[in-house]
Amino acid sequence: MSKIRFSALETVASRIPVGPETAQRASVLFGADVFTMEKMRLYLSGEAYRKLEKNMLEGEGIDRQLADQVAAAMKAWAVEKGATHYTHWFHPLNGSTAEKHDSFIDVLKDGSVIESFDGKLLVQQEPDASSFPSGGIRNTFEARGYTAWDPGSPAFINNKTLCIPTVFVAYTGEALDFKTPLLKALALIDKAAVEICQYFDKEVKKVSATLGWEQEYFLIDEALFNARPDLKLTGRTLMGHSAAKDQQLEDHYFGSIPERINAFMDELEQVCYRLGIPVKTRHNECAPNQFELAPIFEEANLAVDHNQLLMSTMKRVARHHRFRVLLHEKPFKGINGSGKHNNWSLLTDTGVNLLSPGKNPKSNMQFLVFLVATVRAVLEHEALLKACIVSLGNEQRLGGDEAPPTIMSVFLGRYLAGILDEIEAKVGTEKMSPDEKTELKLNVGRIPEIMRDNTDRNRTSPFAFTGNRFEFRAVGSSANCGSAMIVLNAAVAEQLMAFKRETDALIEKGVKKDEAIFQVLRQYSLACKPVRFEGNGYSKEWREEAAKRGLSVDTDCVSCLKAFVSPKARRLFVDNNIYTERELEARYEIKNEIYLKKLQIESRVLGDLALNHIIPTAITYQNTLIENVKGLKEILPNVYAEIGNVQLESIREISRHIADIKTLVVEMTEARKKANNTYINEVERAQAYSDTVRPYLEKIRYYIDKLELLVDDEIWPLPKYRELLFSR
Ligand code: ADP
Ligand code: MG
Repeated sequence: MSKIRFSALETVASRIPVGPETAQRASVLFGADVFTMEKMRLYLSGEAYRKLEKNMLEGEGIDRQLADQVAAAMKAWAVEKGATHYTHWFHPLNGSTAEKHDSFIDVLKDGSVIESFDGKLLVQQEPDASSFPSGGIRNTFEARGYTAWDPGSPAFINNKTLCIPTVFVAYTGEALDFKTPLLKALALIDKAAVEICQYFDKEVKKVSATLGWEQEYFLIDEALFNARPDLKLTGRTLMGHSAAKDQQLEDHYFGSIPERINAFMDELEQVCYRLGIPVKTRHNECAPNQFELAPIFEEANLAVDHNQLLMSTMKRVARHHRFRVLLHEKPFKGINGSGKHNNWSLLTDTGVNLLSPGKNPKSNMQFLVFLVATVRAVLEHEALLKACIVSLGNEQRLGGDEAPPTIMSVFLGRYLAGILDEIEAKVGTEKMSPDEKTELKLNVGRIPEIMRDNTDRNRTSPFAFTGNRFEFRAVGSSANCGSAMIVLNAAVAEQLMAFKRETDALIEKGVKKDEAIFQVLRQYSLACKPVRFEGNGYSKEWREEAAKRGLSVDTDCVSCLKAFVSPKARRLFVDNNIYTERELEARYEIKNEIYLKKLQIESRVLGDLALNHIIPTAITYQNTLIENVKGLKEILPNVYAEIGNVQLESIREISRHIADIKTLVVEMTEARKKANNTYINEVERAQAYSDTVRPYLEKIRYYIDKLELLVDDEIWPLPKYRELLFSR
């Protein structure tokens, strides 16, 4: 092992865990750094509070006077808690969170300094948008962008800074973030779901989408991380032979959590509690040094904000423990990658989970309507659902090592599938007899009992029903959940609206309400058959079958992204006012641009490492062997005659690998140049990178990994998989 690697490992052992002894009760800490409605009540006048509450409930704008009052309250609270700065906090399309801090200070005429913050600063700001991806939106107009307060997500204090969640739009009004379209999609599904609920319960006035994400990640020792330029610059290892042992014994999953990791998790949870993120579950994941954290689900907009906040908090806290967090979807070849399952459901203001079978036939009918509408939405927009989760990282993860395949399908479980089959068989277009109706209702009524025993789970399904929610498993670990939530909620809303139209049309023709619902339910159930799949999502047969069923079987990111601008997607988004044509085009372009740039960086880093680290090291070792052979020949001619060939073959083998690597790096560089010079259009260039540059990454790695096995461990320049994955 090289000296650098050895000293890096030594420092691992000497670390003192921090955390548990300073831990406080969650119930005491929870929300300590959040400006909740409760705190608003303390800091606002009674009248202002009531006005704000009413405005928020009705989703109305907030006037300047009220904004001033809220701003004053927020400032008073934040300054008392030691905050010195404020920022509008938003999610630009590069996937991260953005903040520009301003201090509260203001200088008065007499030169004295006060803390100030008014309604104007709370409600709207104008950050320079020119350095955020805009897909051409800003080029043709102005660089300015606006951030505007989202009262649906409470302000919080992070790093002594008051953070105000905001949307981010261009000067011309086009959205430049995830939150703006997400809020529109959530409003759409609220309206559509309430209308369906009204068939069953007139009390329902509001439906919120709920989201519970499960964040997977790797923790890597900081010193080892720093010795891997590929991890530092691309977030993943571009080379590295698999360790003799990794996850094959399945001894990491749910195993006891190592002390140093535990200390990190403890501190992270404390910070999360303060920020009002209800983290609940933590455990080891399948791969060595891979872990998962999941909160209790929340309203989707808040949950998305909380996941963004969590990702940045994790990175910060990890440094306290001399770790680095890897959120990349596939940091290591050959072992599990990281995903972020999005558990999703709908919750009424009367407290009913619409994807949970209810207590009586009526509520079970309602459950079935929402169930089939969701499945049909997945069928209708399967390509778009894929487009919203693909990325360079996720492209490497999907389709293997326990990640779902790149074909969208829905798993319902045997029993639920059976109920749908029964409805399909029994309900006809003919009028049902009272007896038939009673029997069907009885069976529908039995769903909860059946479901209780229904524990079957299918780990290979990208979109699975898991008892009281759907679990969208194809989302990548580094993604902003907003991307998936926009598509899913809009797509389901579209189906709910169509369901309502069709049912109302039957009712108008004189069909009784419950029978009309049964009939449309049957139609929907039949229609969504092509996307229902209970079998093994990894099998070759499924790929063939899926293609026959008309599902998208593309696996490469650039091809999958095309669904964003398909006529279907345009109808969904533009007709429902979620994106304008221009916004949609812009997003499509940005996704391609990000893919292309990331791939370009990977290719450059690999080229550099191959030429500057790997080849020189291989040559050094080769020279040692050459010296050795020369010596043998001179001093021990008999031994040389006997085994000299073996030594020579090693030298030849190393030479061949060096030559192959060199040739491939030159070819890869040429491919990049060609792609850069041939296309101006981002999408075409991304396609060229995907087709002509990407394959080299694997090819070059192949020979480097071979060399790793041949070259003396002492001089190998990079920490190996066994060190990265087993130091903690
Ligand atoms: P598993 O690993 O079995 O999927 P976890 O406990 O890791 O289970 O995660 C389940 C996630 O699903 C949690 O975040 C949980 O809050 C969330 N969840 C449960 N019910 C709902 C619901 N109705 N809507 C959205 N998310 C939900
Ligand atoms: Mg799960």
